[in-house]
Parts: sequence; C-alpha cells; structure tokens
Amino acid sequence: MKRIAILLLIALLPAFAVPALAEPLPTDFMLGVDVSELIAQEASGAVYFDADGNEADALTVLAEHGVGHIRARVWNDPFDANGHGYGGGNCDVRTAATLSARAAKLGLKTLVDFHYSDFWADPSRQLAPKAWAGMSAEEKEGALYAFTRESLAAILDSGGDVDRVQVGNETNIGMAGEEDTDAVARLIAVGCRAVRDEAAARGLEIATAIHLTNILKYSRIEEILAALDAAGADCDSVGLSYYPYWHGGLDNLKRVIESIRADWGKDVFVAETAWPFTLEDGDGWGNVVGEAQKPYAATPRGQMSAFCNVCRAAGEAGAIGAYYWGGIWTPIGPDAGKNLPVWEACGSGWASSYAAGYDPDNVGEDYGGCAWDNQAMFDFDGHPLAILDAVRQLSEGTFPEGVEAPDEDEAAEEVEGENLVLNPGFEDAERSMWVARSNVEDVPFDYQDYAADAHGGSIAFHYWSKADMDFTLEQTLTGLEPGTYEAGAWSQGGDMKDAELTFYATADGETFEVPFMNTSWANWQHPLLTGIAVTGGELTVGVHIRCAALGWGTLDDFTVIRTD
Ligand code: CA
Repeated sequence: MKRIAILLLIALLPAFAVPALAEPLPTDFMLGVDVSELIAQEASGAVYFDADGNEADALTVLAEHGVGHIRARVWNDPFDANGHGYGGGNCDVRTAATLSARAAKLGLKTLVDFHYSDFWADPSRQLAPKAWAGMSAEEKEGALYAFTRESLAAILDSGGDVDRVQVGNETNIGMAGEEDTDAVARLIAVGCRAVRDEAAARGLEIATAIHLTNILKYSRIEEILAALDAAGADCDSVGLSYYPYWHGGLDNLKRVIESIRADWGKDVFVAETAWPFTLEDGDGWGNVVGEAQKPYAATPRGQMSAFCNVCRAAGEAGAIGAYYWGGIWTPIGPDAGKNLPVWEACGSGWASSYAAGYDPDNVGEDYGGCAWDNQAMFDFDGHPLAILDAVRQLSEGTFPEGVEAPDEDEAAEEVEGENLVLNPGFEDAERSMWVARSNVEDVPFDYQDYAADAHGGSIAFHYWSKADMDFTLEQTLTGLEPGTYEAGAWSQGGDMKDAELTFYATADGETFEVPFMNTSWANWQHPLLTGIAVTGGELTVGVHIRCAALGWGTLDDFTVIRTD
C-alpha cells in the first residue's frame, strides 16, 4: 500500500486568553450542578468549605457562588434484596426529594434526572429496573407513568422546587431495557405526560426534557427526535452531555444546539459537562480521566476555562443553561483500604459490591470508590476551586478573566504522522481511489486546478451547480493496523442554502460524523473526527454535501492518521 508521509503544518491562532464576552450570558441562563451523591458523601464524612475557609453545607456554598439549579438523578430501586445500596450515591427518589427540598430552601431549582433503571444508565447500558423485568414495552409504559408521577409527587411534596424533569438519561441506545427507537419514544412520551399531569394537578409549570449524548453522531439524535415527534411526545427540551475530551469541539456543540433549536423547535441545555482540575487521584480509586487531555490543562484554571467556554458557546448558540456533573463528588479520604467499608456502607463510591448482582457486566469485581474526584468543583479537602468563583461571575453577567481558549489549534499544530489517505489533495491525476457519487441527476463536481480554491497544491475537489446538489466523496482505506485513528478534511465555499455538510468516517460498522458549514471564500473549515477505533482493517472517510442550487465550494487535503 502506497503511503504518503506528511507533516501537517496548520496555520494557527496561538492559544491565549480570550477577550471578555461582548454580551454576557443571557440573564436567565441556568447555571447548574449535579449534586446527586451529596447525601452519601455527607454520610461518609465528606466536608465542604465556603470561600472564607469555614466548614459549610455544600449546597449553600454552591448557592453563594451563583449556582441556581441542581440536578438529582433517580434510580428506581438502587438496593439489593437485603437493602444494601448499589453506590453511586444510592440515588433513589428519597435522596432526590431530600436534595431538592434542601436546595429549594436556598432558592435553587431542581432538574430531576430519571434513569428508569436501578443503577447507572448511559450510552453503554440501559437496564430495566428489577421490578419491570419481564414486562413488555407496553406494560412498561404503565409502570413508567406511575413511577414518574409518584416520584415527582414525592419530590414536590417534600418541598422541592422542580423546574424540569428529564425523562431518561443518555438514552441514545434505548431506555429501561428497550432498544427499539419507536418503543423508547413511546415510553418517553408517557414519561412527559406523567410530568405534565402531575404539574397540572398542582398548578405548576414543569418543563420536560430528554437527555442525549454522542453529539458527534447527530444523525442518531435526529432519528430519536423524529421518533419522539411520531410518538407525540410533549417534550420541551433536549439536554446534551458534552465532555470536551470525548465530544468534539465547541463549534460542533454550537451547531448541534442550533440545529436542534431550529429544526426541532426545542430548548437545548448542556445536561452534563466537566473537566479535571488535576490528574492526581484523591481517594485511592483510579479516575475516569487520569491522563492529560486536550484541549485544556488539568488545572483549576483549565477546569474553569472549560466550563466558562461551554457556557459561552452554549449561550451563543441559544441554549438555556449548563449543568456541571459530579461537582460535589470529592474524596472521602485518601486511603482506599480505609474507604472501602465506607463506600460499601454509604454508597459514596461509583459502585458497591451489592450492585454486581444487578449489573454484573459493568460492576462485577470492579466496585469501589469515586472515579470523578479530580473533576469535582471542590478540591480534595473540600475547598471551592476557581471554577466556582467563575460561576459566580457568570451569574453576575461577567465573563471571568483568565479563561483560556481551548487548545484545539495547538492540538492540531503539528499533527505529525503518516497520512494514510491516498492522493489526499487530488494532486495526482490517478484518482480512482476516490469515489464521488451524485444522489441526484445533476453531477456538480470536478477536480479543479486553481490554487486560490485549493487548501494545498493547486487542485481541489470542486462543486457548483444550477440545480440542488446531494453528493458524497469518499475513500476507503484498507489494510489498516488495529488502532485508533483521527480523520479530517478542509472545506471552503459559500452561498450555502438549505445546506447540510457532513464529514464522516466509518469503521467496524460504526459511523462517526461531524457537521460543518462553509462560510465564505477561502475561509477554511476543518472538520475533524478523533478516537476512531479500527479493528477490521478498513476505514472509509468522506464528505456528504447537500445544498440548494448555486452553492459552491472545494474540499481538499483529507487526512487519516493513526493516533494510538
Ligand atoms: Ca478517585
């Protein structure tokens, strides 16, 4: 296989402090923190301090720093037959009610986060609650309605001030043991109806939400939203998980937020985000993020920057808020040996041994402590970090000084590696490795020799048409070693109307994609996909462009580089 080694030297903006916001965040932008583990933390002896160094209630400290919203997850029954908690905060409806009531006394509203599982529900697992085992999807609709309404009622009865309810948690692959997208959409519709009914019975207004992740696969998000519409779900908003080390750049976050708002008419908020303030571990139990990540340093300033930049990008895209995840999940002590019995007894670790019976695949023998203590908003001793001072400033309409720009540019500064794409810039006249297909009668593309429209060299893949365009350009790479790859391309153009531009990579039957958009001539866009796992030797990389007549542009300098 012919391979062309190149050194990508990309023109860059240096990373330095970004200027203050021209306009502060919208005054009603929700600044939230997920505090689900707090009661287990307190039972385990965790203590927190205020800005003056005095021991204080964590919720009070959050409120004093401008946090206006908490998020509290609800597992149906996170206990085994003997009443032993599964861990992760043992978050049943009682803990949510207690947290919500305490928060309400401080003026904080609550986002209730139903997982419809007895333990963690996320992109890899959506186990049905024990009590729903063996139920059909239709039977689960009845159970889900009852559980949602009773649980919300209990939280409100306790004095909680619930402004929003999330029906399901990161439900990209399913919910409550159901995988069929339409069946899940019907369950979500039922959950939204339960929220509406309970709110109406009390004369309250409570918004409904779904919660999705994997925003680099926007096509899946659209499938889910279409299914929700088809199911008649009365769902006001979409919460998105956005972790900068997993979910791409801020430009893509903004585009996804804007697309959901414009195309589906829903409010959007960042339901989860976080960043490490250190790579150290505080409790003897290894952390999810234990190595340096792009695009920020693992420092208090990097953490503060990450959250501020997410808030700003989300606000600019019209989102209504952002919630920090795991903000109070601090170490209960440095010694894992001493911590273990406390984690087991109080549920302050990520999972206890008692969860293994319910979720053997994910827990098994791997139960233990907190894998998030280096991403909390308090240091290992419980003192507030810089991020909380930044939240206070955001809440006051000031963009904090000292926020670092994401280091995405530097990350791409010298992507040194072998570019595995053949003829990546179309300079070689032998172009049979490239497959261009028009999905409509008109064929709008050619290989154009005009340096001003090329990113490198003089030739680029060019398109323009008097008719609407819908085409793909792709190359399949074969004989790749198993590993992790990064793929990118360069695009410029303009007059984009009704346009959807997607950069995609398919490997091992899985497609990753990122939307992008041409803005104007020579304003080069650089869609990039990272973390593409390849085991089967093949990787297809390409661009799908749909736009109305008279749109134009060029594509150039595709890259696929092995990163791991
Ligand atoms: Ca830890």
